Amino acid sequence: MAGNITFTMIKPDAVEANNIGPILNMINKAGFKIVAMKYMKLSGAQAGQFYAVHKERPFYGELTEYMSNGPIVAAVLSKDNAVADYRKLIGATDPSKAEEGTIRKTFAKSIAANAVHGSDSDENAEIEANFFFSQLERF
Ligand code: GDP
Repeated sequence: MAGNITFTMIKPDAVEANNIGPILNMINKAGFKIVAMKYMKLSGAQAGQFYAVHKERPFYGELTEYMSNGPIVAAVLSKDNAVADYRKLIGATDPSKAEEGTIRKTFAKSIAANAVHGSDSDENAEIEANFFFSQLERF
């Protein structure tokens, strides 16, 4: 059965461009509830730990540097079929390939600075939510 939570970050490029509000609006309009949220800045080590699955990829250094370069908004979202529905709402990793109306098509600057993160499986949604939030911070 598909799970009902996913984890997202509004990445430094979208925060810098004052797009926190418009992105949260799209998230709510698409039927997601925000069950946890914080505004924070990751250290290089924390970004490295979060993206450890990408350690072997050529862009790992660039990615962790970029993600620790400015504040982000981390949030847990709930909705039926949350992971798949949120991936659909954010669009393809490369914004030039993302569909019209998606968050990345609307707000992302490049494949690296692509506005938002979205979990890719129910299992990773739980791992990522637990990386950022305690049970006391999830409603
Ligand atoms: P996602 O699940 O759509 O976020 O994509 P991936 O899991 O494949 O990649 C994780 C993140 O790494 C992406 O969201 C981008 O921020 C970054 N990324 C992916 N491909 C590239 C790339 O070719 N170059 C750089 N610099 N960053 C990339």
